[in-house]
Amino acid sequence: MGERYERVSDVLQVLSHPVRLQIADELRGGEACVCHIQSVVGRSQPYVSQQLSKLREADLVTDRREGLFVYYGLDDPAVERVLEAMLGPLEERGRVAACACPRCEAVSRPTRDVVRREAHAIRGEVT
Ligand SMILES: [Zn+2]
Repeated sequence: MGERYERVSDVLQVLSHPVRLQIADELRGGEACVCHIQSVVGRSQPYVSQQLSKLREADLVTDRREGLFVYYGLDDPAVERVLEAMLGPLEERGRVAACACPRCEAVSRPTRDVVRREAHAIRGEVT
């Protein structure tokens, strides 16, 4: 019985961080690659990877490699329910303006070149 409370306490501790909450919230809309999450939270790739590994260590997200991209997704339906209770129902997700990941590119082919330029600008800031 104690184990159950420890598990929930661990989950809440990992989620008790604004950026990790934002990442988990974004993943409610479906799997996303690191570059997409990076565009959403506006942080450097090492920082995002660090937060993702904390979420993964707590078994809240899974990762799946596909070609050059690693996709992250929520792994715990209970977390989705908690997020819904705290943040409200899932909103329709469009394209993230500064993102050039395959998912965002599929949403907006015509502006692909603009998206690429923005993505390069972001990468420039990070390095
Ligand atoms: Zn994207």
